[in-house]
Amino acid sequence: MSAVDQTTEAKRPGPDLPRVLRLAELAALVRATPGLHVRWSEGPDRDAARTSIDTESGLRLPGLSVNPLDPEAWWTRPWEDWLARQLSQYRHLGDENPDRYAWVLRGELVGRGPDCEPLLSDVEPVALLSGELLREAEERYRGAFDAGRGPEDSAVRATAWSEDRPGFFRLTVADTNCYLVRTADGATLVDAGLPATGRALDALLRHLGMRRTDIDAVILTHGHFDHVGMARSLHAADVPVLVHERDQRLARHPYSYRPARARVPYLISHPGGIPVIGRMALAGALAVRGVAARADAVDGVRVDAPGRPMTIHTPGHTDGHCAYLFPDAGVLVSGDALVTLDPYTGRCGPQIVADAATSDAGVALRSLERLAGTGADLVLPGHGEPWAGGISRAVASALRVGRH
Ligand SMILES: [Zn+2]
Repeated sequence: MSAVDQTTEAKRPGPDLPRVLRLAELAALVRATPGLHVRWSEGPDRDAARTSIDTESGLRLPGLSVNPLDPEAWWTRPWEDWLARQLSQYRHLGDENPDRYAWVLRGELVGRGPDCEPLLSDVEPVALLSGELLREAEERYRGAFDAGRGPEDSAVRATAWSEDRPGFFRLTVADTNCYLVRTADGATLVDAGLPATGRALDALLRHLGMRRTDIDAVILTHGHFDHVGMARSLHAADVPVLVHERDQRLARHPYSYRPARARVPYLISHPGGIPVIGRMALAGALAVRGVAARADAVDGVRVDAPGRPMTIHTPGHTDGHCAYLFPDAGVLVSGDALVTLDPYTGRCGPQIVADAATSDAGVALRSLERLAGTGADLVLPGHGEPWAGGISRAVASALRVGRH
């Protein structure tokens, strides 16, 4: 192939793999081969000979920590810019140890590491990245980006959406997701995000050639402020808003809930959650106004809206929390009954939400069984990345984490 150079570099340690010399070649390789990742280490042979350990906890990791190279769906700038940023942001991983180098690999995604990075097993090395390429990436990154601009800043400006499965569009602002489901019959919005999610929604609707009034229904997983943000304005545009009857009052007064533990002292003891809550505040979380939702989400009944999702009452996080199953697509929108990022602790991986925001954790853990019973293969949570490893594994992992 022309994208890589088969020569080896005598001084460099490492296996006899093709070396990628230029960013443009790497972009061509990534384009031609979806699912590639980069890793900084002493090489595939050394990695194969020992197990990876999470140094802080001492626990064994089920796979190698890697960083993805595929651009996200919202990335509309050149792929070289994306790669330059990815490579520059993690370059320090090689700086601490001169025997470490960057290599490209693929494998099976088996989990997430302590910083939410993907973990791969059954690894197949693909190529080495040359020092010239890493220097080119660094220069391009400095030239093409506002390098070092804080994530707080970008989170507020973010108008990000992605299509997780055909017709399932995720809007993410301040680590809070909602989903526009588009079918031949129309569109259903599952959850209504934060007020600032409105810009992301409008960008997505523009992309789809739609307007807000083309949304047929908003269905809420529950009535918390971070899931109700745009509901009132959509309701004012005559879009019906649905919720379970036991969360109808909460949807009208989204701050009126009483968690198992008061939030402020909890956040002080779990500082990992403060940035997320701070970003939510910047995205308008403190100014959400309630909505007069219809109590038409009924357990075991399919919602009369595009996609016809099955309502699954999953109380615990709130009394009226519901997940929505799209059986034909194998997709479960789990809301906050099961998340992959806990906004109150900053912890990643499938879990119920912390006591700081959960009404009854024991009930929430029992509701996980109902989710497991759906057999869905893709889980779209209220917070965190989608989980494509099947609902059973997600539930098993949430039960291991347990109450927190
Ligand atoms: Zn939430």
